[in-house]
Amino acid sequence: MKVTIDAGLCTGCSLCVTDVPEVFEMGDDGLAKVLVESPDGELAEKAKDEALNCPAAAILIEE
Ligand code: SF4
Repeated sequence: MKVTIDAGLCTGCSLCVTDVPEVFEMGDDGLAKVLVESPDGELAEKAKDEALNCPAAAILIEE
């Protein structure tokens, strides 16, 4: 799987960084960035859950 963030949708709320800091971090531009683009196992599940939790639907998951 591959995790990406649509910078045009991300509002910089930082929810994903708080919930899954292993995968997401805040960038200097105030928007979330992906630390681990192809997480495995438990991290992959967390990233998928966070895609559903993101209020802006900015986290994209490609299987
Ligand atoms: S939860 Fe969504 S909108 Fe908020 S910082 Fe993360 S990607 Fe951006």
